[in-house]
Amino acid sequence: MFIAHLGLGLAAKRITPQVSLGVLLLASQTLDVLCGLLMVTGIERMSVSPGTTVMMPLEFLSYPWSHGLAMSLAWSALAALLALRLYRSAKVAFVIGGLVLSHWVLDWIAHAPDLPLLFDGSPKVGLGLWNSLVGTMLAELLIFAGAAWSYLSATRARGRVGVVAPWTLLTFFLVLFLANHFGPQPPVGIPQQVLALPTLAFILLLPWGHWIEKHRMAS
Ligand SMILES: [Zn+2]
Repeated sequence: MFIAHLGLGLAAKRITPQVSLGVLLLASQTLDVLCGLLMVTGIERMSVSPGTTVMMPLEFLSYPWSHGLAMSLAWSALAALLALRLYRSAKVAFVIGGLVLSHWVLDWIAHAPDLPLLFDGSPKVGLGLWNSLVGTMLAELLIFAGAAWSYLSATRARGRVGVVAPWTLLTFFLVLFLANHFGPQPPVGIPQQVLALPTLAFILLLPWGHWIEKHRMAS
């Protein structure tokens, strides 16, 4: 999935108002940032292969370190421990660890059976929602819209910038999501390093979310 991941980050603000939105959004996309790093370095592998699923022209050949269930649980536990140390709150640790793991669960729903349970050679799972245009659109848009409402009603603007700030993020990712599915597809044979680079830009969610929060407060 794509914007549904960010949706869970947005929705988490209501439960843990003391955590910056940037941290919550990045937690929801941690596995993809790791995947980007490992694809760029060639440790994990993917290629453009139109028809893999209806909605996604990418074939994920090997990505057990970022998207295997075992390693996803490990990253989630690590994130929870880090959060516990930083925020001294079991609730925050649970939410941040849960957000990291939620990425795997949503990907499990969307992907073809390409998510390994352990490492290469272990059974692979995936429910394949990406084979349904209507199902993908409904799931992504409903989760994102519900989460956007949750965030906007759990916080309020400090000034004019605070009214506009969350919409910069919401609009950008909605347009990117639609362009991703309905725009031109990446050419076959493009190096995976090029494919993976945009994923690394998710790191910018941290300062972006932080900037939004500077102009909003709990309502
Ligand atoms: Zn993913």
